Amino acid sequence: MASEQHQKHSIVIVGGGAAGLELATRLGRNLGKKGLADIVLIDAATSHIWKPLLHEVAAGTLDESELVDYLAQAHRSHFRFRLGRMEGLNRKKKEIYVSPTLNSQGEELIPRRTFGYDTLVMSVGSVSNTFNIKGVDEHCLFLDTTAQAFKFQKQLFESYLKNYIGKDPTSVKPLAIAIVGAGATGVELAAQLHEVTEVLSIYGLNEPGNAQLTIIEAATRLLPALPDKLANATRQQLSKLGVDLKMGCRVVEITEDGIYTQDGQFIAANIKVWAAGIKAPDWLKNLDGLESNPINQLVVDSTLKTSDDHIFAIGDCAACVWPGHAGNVPPRAQAAHQQAATLYKTLLRHLQGKPAVAFTYYDYGSLVSLGKYSTVGNLMGQLMGSVSVGGFIAKIVYWSLYKMHQVALHGHFRTVMLSLSNLFRRSVYSKIKMH
Ligand SMILES: Cc1cc2nc3c(=O)[nH]c(=O)nc-3n(C[C@H](O)[C@H](O)[C@H](O)COP(=O)(O)OP(=O)(O)OC[C@H]3O[C@@H](n4cnc5c(N)ncnc54)[C@H](O)[C@@H]3O)c2cc1C
Repeated sequence: MASEQHQKHSIVIVGGGAAGLELATRLGRNLGKKGLADIVLIDAATSHIWKPLLHEVAAGTLDESELVDYLAQAHRSHFRFRLGRMEGLNRKKKEIYVSPTLNSQGEELIPRRTFGYDTLVMSVGSVSNTFNIKGVDEHCLFLDTTAQAFKFQKQLFESYLKNYIGKDPTSVKPLAIAIVGAGATGVELAAQLHEVTEVLSIYGLNEPGNAQLTIIEAATRLLPALPDKLANATRQQLSKLGVDLKMGCRVVEITEDGIYTQDGQFIAANIKVWAAGIKAPDWLKNLDGLESNPINQLVVDSTLKTSDDHIFAIGDCAACVWPGHAGNVPPRAQAAHQQAATLYKTLLRHLQGKPAVAFTYYDYGSLVSLGKYSTVGNLMGQLMGSVSVGGFIAKIVYWSLYKMHQVALHGHFRTVMLSLSNLFRRSVYSKIKMH
């Protein structure tokens, strides 16, 4: 088995998402650049996307231009990138194991490898929780990875073509799309998909109203993270768009043709999307004895350290108590961003023999983007408490979260340039991706 050894203090970060890539970039630009530590980022994919953009990729309203290539980012930021999927850990030997990388024909490109570490950071994110419901894995589309989002986009566009082109318009049945889960992901995706059907009809590839969108949710209200007032405003907006909201409906089985619910309904659907909750990947459970919770997240203390002194966890895969609140710190991009910033300080101090920094989560509120139709949410401030926002201000704040992530990766100047170039690109190219 191939292995990589290092002389300097070796920090291995597994997972280059909202949390891991920001941490690798910051550490690389400081410790890596000064030659004070060896920073290695390992990810199962070759490029990064900020996950809240995935529903736009799926709907085809965003293209590959938002992807960040890990190798280029590593070169610019003085860390090393290694492609591969972590599959095991030996805490005693301070080694992690990465499975062989295969191409699409199953041919081995990179053999199984071992990486030694002095400090290990786990930031492998989360996956959809299917709750072992029959048929979900086989028949649903998911929005956990870029590959899944592109698969979704392809299937969506092909379904529109199959359903409309060359058919007698009077006999065309609407394309039925059912989304399970009325959290932010399900709601935002429904609005994006509605926008796509409109654009396709403008381009002559669809009739207006030739799609039926349904959201199915076990709880009795949508958007549990937002106050009632905003959830109601969102419900009204979705109803105006013709989205059928089936609240209080528990899904019991999914088949190729549709969805069965506990109250005996059958909802026919050509495309079924699962967006009903998350869990950390199953392989984190019992990872060489590290403590985990029932949804496989690694339990961390207030300094983001796991039950092993040399291993930290940040982002969605970490279970971090949120003092004064009923649950843990929520699995959100702003939490991932803040945890990366805190752990960065801790790791700098660690090399100087200083104690770790405690993590405090600041909830700046929740925002939900309904595509071009509206953005709603609540902003939290120490002085003002919770304030409901909508319209242009909400849109700006929603985008500022992504801009903060881009600034952490590319700096201020490049972020401004990237934003301007995207603005111009969007004014020239198709509003949706059609290939
Ligand atoms: C469609 C969608 C919309 C969302 N919208 C919002 C929003 O509006 N606001 C908000 O705050 N949050 C939102 N979220 C949640 C937010 O995206 C996550 O909380 C955030 O991305 C978590 O960051 P992370 O670094 O923990 O994980 P991720 O960003 O998921 O990154 C995990 C990384 O680990 C890699 N990885 C996984 N397994 C392995 C392995 N075995 N070996 C090596 N690498 C591995 C993956 O390839 C990935 O690059 C949304 C999520 C989705 C899916």
